Amino acid sequence: MNATETYDVVVVGSGAAGAVAALRAVDLGLSVLIVEKAHKFGGTSATSGGVMWIPNNQLTPGEDSREKTFTYIDSLLRGPVQRDRLEAYVDEAPNMARFLKSLGVPLVQAAWPDYFQNAPEARADRSVLCDTFDGRLLDDKHFVAMREQYNRFKIFRRYAMDIGEFFAISTRSPGWIQVFLKMLWRYWSDVGTRMLTSRDRRFTQGGALMGHIYQCIFDRGVEVRTETGLQELIVSGGRVTGVKVNNLGRLYQINANQGVVLAAGGFEWNQELRDRFFPVPGLTRHSSSPEDANRGDALIAGMNIGAATEHTEAGWWIPTMHKPMTDASNFEEIHQAAFDVGRPHSVCVNRNGKRFVDEACSYDEFGIAMVEDQRKTGANTPCWLVFDATFRTKFTAGGFLPTMIMPDWRIPADCWDHYIFKANTLDALAAKIHVPVDALRKTVANMNDYAKSGVDPEFGRGGNAYDLMFGDANVKPNPCIGPIDKTPYYAVPINLGDLGTKGGLKANAKAQVVDANDKPIPGLYAAGNNAGSPFGNLYPGAGGTIGPAATFGFVAANDIAVRAGKLTQEKPSTAAANKSKEAVV
Ligand SMILES: Cc1cc2nc3c(=O)[nH]c(=O)nc-3n(C[C@H](O)[C@H](O)[C@H](O)COP(=O)(O)OP(=O)(O)OC[C@H]3O[C@@H](n4cnc5c(N)ncnc54)[C@H](O)[C@@H]3O)c2cc1C
Repeated sequence: MNATETYDVVVVGSGAAGAVAALRAVDLGLSVLIVEKAHKFGGTSATSGGVMWIPNNQLTPGEDSREKTFTYIDSLLRGPVQRDRLEAYVDEAPNMARFLKSLGVPLVQAAWPDYFQNAPEARADRSVLCDTFDGRLLDDKHFVAMREQYNRFKIFRRYAMDIGEFFAISTRSPGWIQVFLKMLWRYWSDVGTRMLTSRDRRFTQGGALMGHIYQCIFDRGVEVRTETGLQELIVSGGRVTGVKVNNLGRLYQINANQGVVLAAGGFEWNQELRDRFFPVPGLTRHSSSPEDANRGDALIAGMNIGAATEHTEAGWWIPTMHKPMTDASNFEEIHQAAFDVGRPHSVCVNRNGKRFVDEACSYDEFGIAMVEDQRKTGANTPCWLVFDATFRTKFTAGGFLPTMIMPDWRIPADCWDHYIFKANTLDALAAKIHVPVDALRKTVANMNDYAKSGVDPEFGRGGNAYDLMFGDANVKPNPCIGPIDKTPYYAVPINLGDLGTKGGLKANAKAQVVDANDKPIPGLYAAGNNAGSPFGNLYPGAGGTIGPAATFGFVAANDIAVRAGKLTQEKPSTAAANKSKEAVV
């Protein structure tokens, strides 16, 4: 094994954290290589919604502030976090967004209410996303090699939707048919791309964010070396000086003069680590991040050289359903249930037939409620989404499009009574899914009462702006609660799925990985899900994972550049004061 290559910075992992670290580092005059284990680059980030939570972004100047942001976050924190790291996030996130924007990455405000609308200083302007990206602006090799977005964000796994199109079509709001026809036209009239691949050249959501960032990265000559996974960290004289990588079985070393940034995602695809860290059992295949990519390799590599860890007890939860693939025998398709469970004419119950959550709450809160209910009753994970024929006609259910597009007769025979259950009476449905009949009957009767009054006295479903995003404006008085009374009745099991993991290597406010004594390990940085979340076990708003991932990638590159003499350090307080009045988006 010979040391053949040397860069200033080696970035491990090509998701948002790694990409922003690499882009910032090369922009500050450092030489950079990104190594990526998978054969596709972009990570979970490219498959995602691409939303970043950037508080105090000053879109509406003067309205949000650092103080208001902390009032909101502090009222929600569930346990100890590193205060200076949290402050670094709040101060640096707008600077990171400003940096991307200065390079032409078109960030715009996303209309997502913060996830805890009843908390003090909750707002609906802290989430930011990226305008669409023309994938052909990457060369053809990179166009097809970037990870594609999650199937749910495409129609028929083909036509990429931006967030507006996604909501218009999934809620069938006025004009949705024109929206759909426009997408079809755009796709099929693009003859050049159709001859190359079935992939839509229009990258949206996470694809748009990562497409824009990677265009900047490739323009600056940075290589993303795929199928090259970190195996171990090289330490010399107490400092991390490089990485040992594995390319299809070939091991070699790459030196990093100034720093190694670990941005290799979480450990959601590592069953052993899940079993070790998580409070309730769950399976790797319940994750909705790209299969088998994030196995905690870089977390383990860090731990092997004495790095500390934090917040490893939780995932970024999102309930998932596992639909057998119709065109690939023996495989399942992951379906995030978050956009199904808050719709009217449905209810979620544990295996005792009892509700345990406001179903329309944020997906992470839903997951936390599943964990708590499982610990309390032992009858959750999986739980059930129960709905009636009205729901089935109007909404996507467990990945099956509404009956207008996918009537029951089109559902493959092997899905019935295995993935989706159906019966003409609630009693028969309860018997099929082994839930106590009386309890289910009572739960549904309660929901039908709440549908009339519009008030859910148990969990407050539909009682705030976030919940209402998933409602149906035609259902009154509460758009999130409709009667469950039209036969047949259906049920689909819901697992404790995730978008990734919240915990990882313990990193400080400068993204330096620290040891058990909180002493930085020289030359080693971590960002994104490879590091512990600055919020601990809290998902404050849409973009609460990619926001910190990109921010601490940016922070890591800045710190490396300061140490390499490429950047003068601004006092954080001065920098925050100077910049706070500039709008980001
Ligand atoms: C469908 C979906 C929608 C989502 N929407 C949002 C959203 O809108 N906003 C939000 O904030 N979050 C969202 N999330 C969560 C978010 O995508 C992730 O938490 C975030 O992208 C993690 O970024 P990252 O850079 O840490 O890791 P990733 O983007 O997962 O990148 C890690 C990369 O490291 C690579 N890697 C792993 N091991 C190695 C190794 N040994 N050597 C080299 N490379 C390695 C992986 O292959 C991967 O490419 C969503 C997730 C999903 C699945």
